[in-house]
Amino acid sequence: MSEQRVVIITGASRGLGAATARWLAKKSCRLVLNARGAQPLEEVRQQCLALGSEVLSVAGDVGDLAVCQQIVAAATDRWGRLDAVVNNAAVIDPIGIYTQVDMEAWSRAMQINLVAPLYLARLGAPWLLQSKGKVVNVSTGAAVHPLAAWSAYCASKAGLHHLTRCMAVEQPKIIAVSMRPGVIDTAMQDQIRKDGPGHMPPDLMQFFRQLKETNRLEPPEVPAKSLAWLALYCPPEWNGEMVEYTDARVIREAAAVFDA
Ligand code: NAP
Repeated sequence: MSEQRVVIITGASRGLGAATARWLAKKSCRLVLNARGAQPLEEVRQQCLALGSEVLSVAGDVGDLAVCQQIVAAATDRWGRLDAVVNNAAVIDPIGIYTQVDMEAWSRAMQINLVAPLYLARLGAPWLLQSKGKVVNVSTGAAVHPLAAWSAYCASKAGLHHLTRCMAVEQPKIIAVSMRPGVIDTAMQDQIRKDGPGHMPPDLMQFFRQLKETNRLEPPEVPAKSLAWLALYCPPEWNGEMVEYTDARVIREAAAVFDA
Protein backbone atom coordinates (compact mmCIF):
# COMPACT_ATOMS: atom_id res chain seq x y z
CA MET A 1 0.00 0.00 0.00
CA SER A 2 1.31 3.43 -0.87
CA GLU A 3 0.39 6.30 1.45
CA GLN A 4 1.58 9.52 -0.11
CA ARG A 5 0.05 11.53 2.66
CA VAL A 6 1.78 14.62 3.94
CA VAL A 7 2.70 14.45 7.61
CA ILE A 8 4.52 16.92 9.87
CA ILE A 9 6.47 15.39 12.77
CA THR A 10 8.10 17.59 15.40
CA GLY A 11 10.93 16.30 17.55
CA ALA A 12 11.89 13.96 14.73
CA SER A 13 15.66 13.89 15.22
CA ARG A 14 15.71 11.00 17.70
CA GLY A 15 13.58 8.83 19.97
CA LEU A 16 9.87 8.48 19.35
CA GLY A 17 9.68 11.14 16.65
CA ALA A 18 12.48 9.62 14.55
CA ALA A 19 10.98 6.13 14.85
CA THR A 20 7.57 7.48 13.78
CA ALA A 21 9.17 9.14 10.77
CA ARG A 22 10.76 5.83 9.72
CA TRP A 23 7.45 3.93 9.96
CA LEU A 24 5.70 6.55 7.86
CA ALA A 25 8.60 6.66 5.38
CA LYS A 26 8.17 2.92 4.82
CA LYS A 27 4.63 3.72 3.67
CA SER A 28 5.92 6.38 1.26
CA CYS A 29 4.47 9.27 3.21
CA ARG A 30 5.72 12.74 2.40
CA LEU A 31 7.28 14.09 5.55
CA VAL A 32 8.29 17.40 7.05
CA LEU A 33 10.59 16.75 9.99
CA ASN A 34 11.49 19.26 12.68
CA ALA A 35 13.87 19.47 15.64
CA ARG A 36 16.39 22.07 16.78
CA GLY A 37 19.57 20.12 16.03
CA ALA A 38 20.16 20.28 12.27
CA GLN A 39 22.71 17.45 12.01
CA PRO A 40 20.74 14.66 13.78
CA LEU A 41 17.64 15.82 11.92
CA GLU A 42 19.49 15.47 8.61
CA GLU A 43 20.53 11.93 9.57
CA VAL A 44 16.89 10.94 10.14
CA ARG A 45 15.93 12.66 6.88
CA GLN A 46 18.50 10.55 5.04
CA GLN A 47 17.17 7.37 6.69
CA CYS A 48 13.65 8.23 5.55
CA LEU A 49 14.81 9.04 2.02
CA ALA A 50 16.52 5.65 1.89
CA LEU A 51 13.22 4.05 2.87
CA GLY A 52 11.63 5.60 -0.20
CA SER A 53 9.79 8.66 1.03
CA GLU A 54 10.07 12.32 0.08
CA VAL A 55 11.30 14.28 3.07
CA LEU A 56 11.84 17.93 3.95
CA SER A 57 13.28 19.18 7.20
CA VAL A 58 12.96 22.46 9.06
CA ALA A 59 15.49 22.86 11.86
CA GLY A 60 14.43 25.24 14.61
CA ASP A 61 12.70 25.71 17.93
CA VAL A 62 9.08 24.67 17.54
CA GLY A 63 8.13 27.08 20.32
CA ASP A 64 8.91 29.89 17.90
CA LEU A 65 5.86 30.87 15.81
CA ALA A 66 8.05 31.74 12.78
CA VAL A 67 9.49 28.20 12.81
CA CYS A 68 5.97 26.72 12.93
CA GLN A 69 5.05 28.90 9.95
CA GLN A 70 8.09 27.54 8.06
CA ILE A 71 7.14 23.96 8.92
CA VAL A 72 3.59 24.26 7.61
CA ALA A 73 4.71 26.26 4.55
CA ALA A 74 7.32 23.59 3.73
CA ALA A 75 4.57 20.98 3.48
CA THR A 76 1.96 23.02 1.70
CA ASP A 77 4.28 24.87 -0.70
CA ARG A 78 5.85 21.57 -1.85
CA TRP A 79 2.86 19.25 -1.88
CA GLY A 80 -0.21 21.50 -1.65
CA ARG A 81 -1.75 19.46 1.12
CA LEU A 82 -1.40 18.42 4.73
CA ASP A 83 -2.85 15.23 6.19
CA ALA A 84 -1.50 15.08 9.73
CA VAL A 85 0.48 16.93 12.37
CA VAL A 86 2.29 14.80 14.95
CA ASN A 87 3.07 17.07 17.89
CA ASN A 88 5.85 15.02 19.44
CA ALA A 89 8.59 17.52 20.42
CA ALA A 90 8.74 18.10 24.16
CA VAL A 91 11.15 18.86 26.95
CA ILE A 92 11.14 17.42 30.47
CA ASP A 93 13.17 20.23 32.01
CA PRO A 94 13.12 22.17 34.25
CA ILE A 95 13.26 19.33 36.78
CA GLY A 96 12.77 20.77 40.28
CA ILE A 97 10.03 21.63 42.72
CA TYR A 98 7.95 24.65 41.79
CA THR A 99 9.04 26.75 44.77
CA GLN A 100 12.61 26.75 43.44
CA VAL A 101 12.15 26.23 39.74
CA ASP A 102 13.77 28.38 37.05
CA MET A 103 10.80 30.44 35.88
CA GLU A 104 12.11 31.16 32.39
CA ALA A 105 12.76 27.47 31.79
CA TRP A 106 9.24 26.70 33.07
CA SER A 107 7.77 29.16 30.63
CA ARG A 108 9.87 27.72 27.76
CA ALA A 109 8.57 24.23 28.53
CA MET A 110 4.99 25.48 28.24
CA GLN A 111 5.84 27.12 24.94
CA ILE A 112 7.38 23.94 23.48
CA ASN A 113 5.07 21.32 24.99
CA LEU A 114 1.73 23.14 24.82
CA VAL A 115 1.78 26.32 22.76
CA ALA A 116 3.68 24.90 19.77
CA PRO A 117 1.10 22.14 19.18
CA LEU A 118 -1.60 24.82 19.08
CA TYR A 119 0.48 26.89 16.61
CA LEU A 120 0.89 23.95 14.24
CA ALA A 121 -2.74 22.84 14.48
CA ARG A 122 -3.91 26.42 13.96
CA LEU A 123 -1.59 27.07 11.01
CA GLY A 124 -2.32 23.69 9.45
CA ALA A 125 -6.10 23.92 9.94
CA PRO A 126 -7.04 25.17 6.44
CA TRP A 127 -5.30 22.14 4.88
CA LEU A 128 -6.36 19.69 7.57
CA LEU A 129 -9.98 20.72 6.98
CA GLN A 130 -9.60 19.87 3.29
CA SER A 131 -7.97 16.51 3.94
CA LYS A 132 -10.14 15.54 6.95
CA GLY A 133 -6.75 15.42 8.62
CA LYS A 134 -5.42 14.45 12.03
CA VAL A 135 -3.66 16.21 14.87
CA VAL A 136 -1.90 13.65 17.04
CA ASN A 137 -0.54 15.04 20.29
CA VAL A 138 1.97 12.94 22.21
CA SER A 139 0.85 12.69 25.81
CA THR A 140 2.15 10.87 28.89
CA GLY A 141 1.02 9.45 32.20
CA ALA A 142 2.33 12.72 33.66
CA ALA A 143 -0.64 14.47 32.02
CA VAL A 144 -2.92 12.86 34.60
CA HIS A 145 -0.54 12.03 37.50
CA PRO A 146 1.27 14.82 39.38
CA LEU A 147 4.91 13.73 39.60
CA ALA A 148 7.06 15.68 42.07
CA ALA A 149 9.68 17.95 40.44
CA TRP A 150 8.02 17.80 37.04
CA SER A 151 5.43 20.60 37.31
CA ALA A 152 6.26 22.15 33.91
CA TYR A 153 6.11 18.81 32.13
CA CYS A 154 2.97 17.62 33.98
CA ALA A 155 1.06 20.89 33.60
CA SER A 156 2.00 21.37 29.95
CA LYS A 157 1.03 17.80 29.06
CA ALA A 158 -2.23 18.05 31.04
CA GLY A 159 -2.90 21.23 29.10
CA LEU A 160 -2.07 19.48 25.84
CA HIS A 161 -4.53 16.71 26.54
CA HIS A 162 -7.28 19.17 27.42
CA LEU A 163 -6.41 21.20 24.33
CA THR A 164 -6.92 18.01 22.32
CA ARG A 165 -10.39 17.63 23.80
CA CYS A 166 -11.21 21.29 23.13
CA MET A 167 -10.04 20.92 19.54
CA ALA A 168 -12.35 17.92 19.11
CA VAL A 169 -15.44 19.80 20.23
CA GLU A 170 -14.55 23.01 18.43
CA GLN A 171 -13.67 21.49 15.06
CA PRO A 172 -15.01 17.97 14.56
CA LYS A 173 -13.86 17.93 10.92
CA ILE A 174 -10.23 17.65 12.08
CA ILE A 175 -9.57 14.55 14.18
CA ALA A 176 -7.53 15.38 17.29
CA VAL A 177 -6.22 12.66 19.61
CA SER A 178 -3.54 12.34 22.21
CA MET A 179 -1.52 9.17 22.65
CA ARG A 180 0.35 7.88 25.70
CA PRO A 181 3.51 6.12 24.48
CA GLY A 182 4.50 4.26 27.67
CA VAL A 183 7.98 4.67 29.12
CA ILE A 184 10.47 4.67 26.25
CA ASP A 185 14.20 4.10 26.03
CA THR A 186 15.14 7.54 24.72
CA ALA A 187 17.31 10.56 25.55
CA MET A 188 14.47 11.90 27.69
CA GLN A 189 14.81 8.93 30.05
CA ASP A 190 18.61 9.38 30.07
CA GLN A 191 18.05 12.96 31.15
CA ILE A 192 15.64 11.95 33.93
CA ARG A 193 18.22 9.51 35.34
CA LYS A 194 20.98 12.13 35.05
CA ASP A 195 19.21 15.30 36.25
CA GLY A 196 16.57 13.82 38.57
CA PRO A 197 18.72 12.95 41.62
CA GLY A 198 18.58 15.70 44.22
CA HIS A 199 15.28 16.97 42.80
CA MET A 200 12.95 14.01 42.33
CA PRO A 201 11.82 11.87 45.28
CA PRO A 202 14.18 8.88 45.77
CA ASP A 203 11.40 6.30 45.21
CA LEU A 204 10.49 7.92 41.88
CA MET A 205 14.17 7.96 40.85
CA GLN A 206 14.45 4.32 41.79
CA PHE A 207 11.37 3.50 39.70
CA PHE A 208 12.93 5.01 36.58
CA ARG A 209 16.38 3.49 37.22
CA GLN A 210 14.86 0.04 37.65
CA LEU A 211 12.92 0.28 34.42
CA LYS A 212 16.23 0.76 32.61
CA GLU A 213 18.19 -1.80 34.61
CA THR A 214 15.57 -4.50 34.09
CA ASN A 215 15.11 -3.73 30.37
CA ARG A 216 11.50 -2.67 30.79
CA LEU A 217 11.73 0.53 28.76
CA GLU A 218 10.00 0.27 25.40
CA PRO A 219 12.10 0.64 22.27
CA PRO A 220 10.79 3.75 20.47
CA GLU A 221 9.73 1.70 17.42
CA VAL A 222 6.93 0.06 19.42
CA PRO A 223 4.89 3.13 20.46
CA ALA A 224 5.96 4.81 17.20
CA LYS A 225 4.05 2.22 15.21
CA SER A 226 0.84 3.14 17.06
CA LEU A 227 1.57 6.84 16.66
CA ALA A 228 2.18 6.46 12.92
CA TRP A 229 -1.07 4.53 12.54
CA LEU A 230 -3.05 7.22 14.39
CA ALA A 231 -1.55 9.89 12.11
CA LEU A 232 -2.82 8.01 9.06
CA TYR A 233 -5.99 6.29 10.18
CA CYS A 234 -7.35 7.54 13.53
CA PRO A 235 -11.12 7.01 13.23
CA PRO A 236 -13.31 10.15 13.53
CA GLU A 237 -15.22 8.70 16.47
CA TRP A 238 -12.02 8.78 18.55
CA ASN A 239 -11.86 12.58 18.27
CA GLY A 240 -10.70 14.02 21.60
CA GLU A 241 -9.65 10.70 23.14
CA MET A 242 -6.45 9.90 24.97
CA VAL A 243 -5.33 6.61 23.43
CA GLU A 244 -2.80 4.20 24.94
CA TYR A 245 -0.11 2.95 22.53
CA THR A 246 -1.06 -0.56 23.67
CA ASP A 247 -4.76 -0.08 22.84
CA ALA A 248 -5.81 -3.35 21.20
CA ARG A 249 -7.72 -1.46 18.51
CA VAL A 250 -4.55 0.37 17.51
CA ILE A 251 -2.03 -2.47 17.81
CA ARG A 252 -4.03 -4.83 15.62
CA GLU A 253 -4.58 -2.29 12.85
CA ALA A 254 -1.05 -0.88 13.06
CA ALA A 255 0.46 -4.34 12.71
CA ALA A 256 -1.69 -4.98 9.64
CA VAL A 257 -0.47 -1.77 8.02
CA PHE A 258 3.20 -1.59 9.02
CA ASP A 259 4.20 -5.24 9.37
CA ALA A 260 2.67 -6.18 6.04
P1 NAP B 1 13.71 12.81 23.19
O1 NAP B 1 14.51 11.60 22.85
O2 NAP B 1 14.26 13.77 24.16
O3 NAP B 1 13.38 13.55 21.81
C1 NAP B 1 12.77 14.81 21.83
C2 NAP B 1 12.77 15.35 20.42
O4 NAP B 1 12.18 16.66 20.47
C3 NAP B 1 14.16 15.52 19.84
O5 NAP B 1 14.11 15.32 18.45
C4 NAP B 1 14.48 16.99 20.15
O6 NAP B 1 15.48 17.45 19.27
C5 NAP B 1 13.10 17.60 19.92
N1 NAP B 1 12.89 18.89 20.57
C6 NAP B 1 13.04 19.20 21.87
N2 NAP B 1 12.78 20.48 22.05
C7 NAP B 1 12.46 21.01 20.85
C8 NAP B 1 12.11 22.30 20.40
N3 NAP B 1 12.06 23.34 21.23
N4 NAP B 1 11.82 22.47 19.09
C9 NAP B 1 11.89 21.43 18.23
N5 NAP B 1 12.22 20.18 18.61
C10 NAP B 1 12.50 19.99 19.91
O7 NAP B 1 12.28 12.44 23.75
P2 NAP B 1 11.29 11.21 23.47
O8 NAP B 1 11.35 10.33 24.66
O9 NAP B 1 11.46 10.67 22.12
O10 NAP B 1 9.91 11.99 23.60
C11 NAP B 1 9.04 12.15 22.51
C12 NAP B 1 7.65 12.45 23.06
O11 NAP B 1 7.22 11.35 23.87
C13 NAP B 1 7.57 13.68 23.94
O12 NAP B 1 6.36 14.36 23.67
C14 NAP B 1 7.53 13.11 25.34
O13 NAP B 1 6.88 13.96 26.25
C15 NAP B 1 6.74 11.84 25.11
N6 NAP B 1 6.94 10.81 26.14
C16 NAP B 1 8.14 10.24 26.34
C17 NAP B 1 8.27 9.26 27.30
C18 NAP B 1 9.57 8.55 27.57
O14 NAP B 1 9.62 7.68 28.45
N7 NAP B 1 10.63 8.84 26.85
C19 NAP B 1 7.17 8.88 28.09
C20 NAP B 1 5.95 9.50 27.86
C21 NAP B 1 5.83 10.46 26.88
P3 NAP B 1 16.37 18.78 19.60
O15 NAP B 1 16.79 18.67 21.02
O16 NAP B 1 17.48 18.72 18.60
O17 NAP B 1 15.45 19.92 19.35
